Amino acid sequence: MPIDATQPYDPNNVFAKILRGEIPCNKVFEDEWALAFHDIAPQAPVHVLVIPTGAYVSWDDFSARASAEEIAGFVRAVGHVAREQGLVEPGYRLLANLGADGGQEVPHLHVHLFGGAPLGRMIAR
Ligand code: 5GP
Repeated sequence: MPIDATQPYDPNNVFAKILRGEIPCNKVFEDEWALAFHDIAPQAPVHVLVIPTGAYVSWDDFSARASAEEIAGFVRAVGHVAREQGLVEPGYRLLANLGADGGQEVPHLHVHLFGGAPLGRMIAR
C-alpha cells in the first residue's frame, strides 16, 4: 500500500527497524551515512536497497533537510555499492519511489539499485 510521503517520519517503519538491528537484513555495505542490503523480493538479478542512516521519509524530505555531508555521503555510498557489485561496466538502474503515484511503500528514503541483466524500458506500460 503506497504511503503519503508528506507524513512525519515514522520511527517504527521496517527500514528504521533494520537500521537499529531489530530486523535482520542481508547487508552489502554500511558506513556512517548509508546502509545497503538486498531487497527481500528482488525484481532483477541484483536488487539492492541503499538507505540513508538518517531519519528521512523520502527523496523530497532528504533533499530538503539533509546536510551537505549527509547528501554527499549517501550519494557516494550508492556509487560505491554499484561499483562493488560490478555493475558499472554492464550498467545499472537507480530508482527512488515517492508517495502514492511513485508507489512508495516504505516511509524511509531508499534507492533501488537494479542490475545483472538488461532491464528493459524505463517504465512498464
Ligand atoms: P518501495 O515500493 O517503497 O519503493 O519499495 C520497498 C521495497 O522494500 C520493496 O522492493 C520490498 O520488497 C522491500 N522490502 C520491504 N520490506 C523489506 C524487508 O523487511 N527487508 C528487505 N530486505 N526488503 C524489504
